[in-house]
Amino acid sequence: MNFSAEEFKRQFPLFAQPENLQLTYLDNAATSQKPQAVIDAICDFYLHSNANTHRSSHRLARRATEMLERVRGQAAAFLNAVSTREIVFCRGATEALNLLANSLCSGLQAGDEIVISTAEHHANIVPWQMMAQRFQLTLRYVPEVAGIPEFDRLEEVLNPRTRIVSLTAGSNALGLRPDLEDIARQLRERDLYWIVDGAQLAAHEPVDVQKIGCDFFVCSAHKFYGPSGIGLLYGRESLLEAMPPWQGGGEMIAEVDLYGCHYAGLPHKFEAGTSSLAAIAGLGAALEFIAAQDRAAMAAHEQALMTLLHRELAALPTVRVISQPQHNLGIAAFAPISGSAADLMHWLDGRDIAVRAGHHCAQPLIRAAGETATVRASFAAYNTRGDVETLVQALRDYAEVVG
Ligand code: PLP
Repeated sequence: MNFSAEEFKRQFPLFAQPENLQLTYLDNAATSQKPQAVIDAICDFYLHSNANTHRSSHRLARRATEMLERVRGQAAAFLNAVSTREIVFCRGATEALNLLANSLCSGLQAGDEIVISTAEHHANIVPWQMMAQRFQLTLRYVPEVAGIPEFDRLEEVLNPRTRIVSLTAGSNALGLRPDLEDIARQLRERDLYWIVDGAQLAAHEPVDVQKIGCDFFVCSAHKFYGPSGIGLLYGRESLLEAMPPWQGGGEMIAEVDLYGCHYAGLPHKFEAGTSSLAAIAGLGAALEFIAAQDRAAMAAHEQALMTLLHRELAALPTVRVISQPQHNLGIAAFAPISGSAADLMHWLDGRDIAVRAGHHCAQPLIRAAGETATVRASFAAYNTRGDVETLVQALRDYAEVVG
């Protein structure tokens, strides 16, 4: 295997700060740390290229515009989109899903149906609930058992009124990853839009939207070593072309008069206002950084850590493990048998172990697991076996403290 987690970690300066030398960071599903290259690119943008894009044509504006379009090209390569016209910059997966919900649902008829699952992040539930209410649409869920969706039974909830299927490629609460090939098989030949929420997937594996065969794919840069405030929406060009814009303003128009306007072409039609330019510069550096890694080796390393942690947790009588190591993107979720998840998280924080406690923006799933909150440990490629051992030892010590 051509990958050393220790060497990889040295590229992340946060871990070298005096206050973080003992830090065990296991909250990567919430956000990843940033390599020096990303921090430098953001700084470099403000030092050398800061100007607004597209609007003016002076030297700095041209430089900023070139940077933005270069990163769009990198993003198209990252997702294997056919063209840069298929890549829309958004604030993140949440904004991309809201864009899709608003734009697509405005063209639906009352009684049309949308399918999501109980394993979705709130970002892939709430926008559809809002649209269902506004346009009298019906929201359906993939069949589930004890709250866990059975994606191989998706077809059972499809019918001629199904217009949108929007499903996760990996649950942020449990790590659970559906078989996208099987979903594609079930959706084949159906006249509907298939949206993949790839916010977690993109952090762990190369993405090929053409191979997946989806119509839309969303992700957030901050989950895959990039900055916050920037994400990607991929959409098939013919579909984006036919969709109305969601937000209006500068950058997204070709011409405006007092009573109407003509929209700009793709992808600018969907990018109203000034984009997060420095974040886009950082995204470019993150994409370059990722492209230089052995991603298969990184994924294998993360999987080994996730499997090891599940094995160790299973041997601890003081926690109830909720996640499964099979078909898991790199997350372990558990709850203490006595005491609350929040108390345990705070205690671990006192030992400089960063995990998350709560509902993880996936309340339906956590509730179905019989909990109101869980503790979540989530991996990135800079985590080590030492991090797993530190967490497990702390959990043993906690059990002694609480009795
Ligand atoms: N979808 C999933 C599966 C997520 O894990 C997240 C964030 O945790 C989101 C969507 C929303 O991403 P963001 O908060 O970056 O917009």
